[in-house]
Amino acid sequence: MYIHIPFCKQACHYCDFHFSTSVKKKPEMVEAICKELLLRKEEVSGNVETIYFGGGTPSLLSAEELQQIFDVIHSNYSVVENAEITLEANPDDLSEEKLKMLAASTINRLSIGVQSFFEEDLKLMNRAHNAEEALESIKLAKQYFGNISIDLIYGIPGMSNRRWKENLQIALDLEVPHISSYALTVEPKTALKSMIEKGKVAPVEEELAKEQYEIMIETLSAANFDNYEFSNFGKPGFFSRNNTAYWFGKPYLGIGPSAHSFDGFHRKWNISNNTLYIKSLQKGEIPAEIEKLSISDRYNELVMTRLRTKWGIAVDEVERSFGKKYKDYLLREATGLIEDKLLEWHNNRLQVSKKGKFLSDGIASELFWVEN
Ligand code: SF4
Repeated sequence: MYIHIPFCKQACHYCDFHFSTSVKKKPEMVEAICKELLLRKEEVSGNVETIYFGGGTPSLLSAEELQQIFDVIHSNYSVVENAEITLEANPDDLSEEKLKMLAASTINRLSIGVQSFFEEDLKLMNRAHNAEEALESIKLAKQYFGNISIDLIYGIPGMSNRRWKENLQIALDLEVPHISSYALTVEPKTALKSMIEKGKVAPVEEELAKEQYEIMIETLSAANFDNYEFSNFGKPGFFSRNNTAYWFGKPYLGIGPSAHSFDGFHRKWNISNNTLYIKSLQKGEIPAEIEKLSISDRYNELVMTRLRTKWGIAVDEVERSFGKKYKDYLLREATGLIEDKLLEWHNNRLQVSKKGKFLSDGIASELFWVEN
């Protein structure tokens, strides 16, 4: 289960997620989220194994608002006893009082949006926290949570490889068991894009991002982190169960504005507008669009997501799920990539090689089924 909390204190320059910087409608939003949870309970026939509060900034929720949502979940859904319950939090929200409140709830995993431990990077990205808050929030969070992930961004203009290594070293010294790390991307209609166009910020260089990705693989592997998905590194026992389920194509229910859902055959997405979302739910309507995925859409999604994981693509599963035609196609398209040493075979699974790692998405697209 994914719950989108669409509010942030300020807009990060690179961000194109759905959020509002006005929190005026937070109480109505929580009501609407609870209503959507109620209206959609029949869509979930099995147990809920993970709950993920993403955003936006879910750490802006008060204790009462969180409790309101949990009350609806627990009285309408069957949540397994050892469910992984993650909340994304920003460092500036993690006061001791807030952490005590979160630890007293059923949340058992924090994903902290650090992005960088350096002031220059945080300012360039317009993050709401400073370098000291980044550091202190983790030290404090560790007193209340054992299962902590932090987000770091690489490829930031002006961030040298040396500073990137320092960022990684600080994360290692803090002994967090999980790190998610993404290359800074320049999305359309973001402040970052316009700043680059106006020459106020240097362009993002793919070569630098690649170098920093390689530095990260080397540094984190040496520190016993498993790079179990392209952007995710975990110590044994600390892989994200929520994200792993997503990569393995398990169904999920997405609640809140802009949230996506998947039932194995259809993708649904809620409207990305807070006011319209609230108004619809007040009328008892879910403002969503739905698309039925074709067999080739589902094959392409499997290729895309699995190839980014360390488990790769199980060829037997492709045959079981999509038939011999798709398996034969996959094997045929993979031949050249294997010869180029971008893909490798391991126990009947196709995996990207070390050489192919940074090119995972491009490699996946070579294996896609394209309808004529
Ligand atoms: S806090 Fe997260 S969701 Fe909000 S603007 Fe920044 S990156 Fe985007």
